Amino acid sequence: MNLVEEIEKLKSTLPAHVKLVAISKTKPVELIREAYNSGHKIFGENKVQELVGKYEMLPKDTEWHMVGHLQTNKVKYITPFISMIHGVDNFKLLKVINKEAKKNNRIISCLLQIKIAKEDSKFGLTRNEVEQILESDEFDELSNVKILGLMGMASFSDDENIIRDEFRELVSIFKIIQQKYFATVPEFKELSMGMSTDYKIAIEEGSTMIRIGSLIFGERVYP
Ligand SMILES: *Cc1c(COP(=O)(O)O)cnc(C)c1O
Repeated sequence: MNLVEEIEKLKSTLPAHVKLVAISKTKPVELIREAYNSGHKIFGENKVQELVGKYEMLPKDTEWHMVGHLQTNKVKYITPFISMIHGVDNFKLLKVINKEAKKNNRIISCLLQIKIAKEDSKFGLTRNEVEQILESDEFDELSNVKILGLMGMASFSDDENIIRDEFRELVSIFKIIQQKYFATVPEFKELSMGMSTDYKIAIEEGSTMIRIGSLIFGERVYP
């Protein structure tokens, strides 16, 4: 099956409330254009330089999501065009996004990343840290970012129970945060969880956005 067929097949299995973010990192622009031409327009990247390069080469109505760890000094390169930043994992980053969004006269959609995996290599906030951010006076002044939900990455594991437990933890934090801080904000509804190997479990547990790379584009080859 080719890329377009893989995307069609995957989309045909998704519930209506689940959005596919096609993770195109390391993949050539021609392949992304093929998907774009077939009607899929939402792509995610995890490296700023690669993202900017691809943005410049593809049609301007492509919807770009930043899904990787984002350094504050690189925020300014993506704020003119980015549709959503999935991995906001510290307050300083959120403040920098706000500042750069303001310069561009934009309001940028963000997800707060929660650390659910037990692996040290994964980034993310604890529930307490999220609450501290949302309760701060500084947060109230951030007029150019919009928090639409949470994001998380499960452990890299063959044990389905570990993955499911971690997704459940994310869902439970999501519900608490939603009730406590966003009860009057219907747009706070996104749960970005699930990748090629665990997206089915993620959807069963309540995901609204899956970030799928290798399943549709094939394995990544790193030089
Ligand atoms: C690479 C990446 C994905 C996609 O991974 P696959 O296993 O190829 O589906 C999803 N989310 C993030 C944050 C990534 O960096």
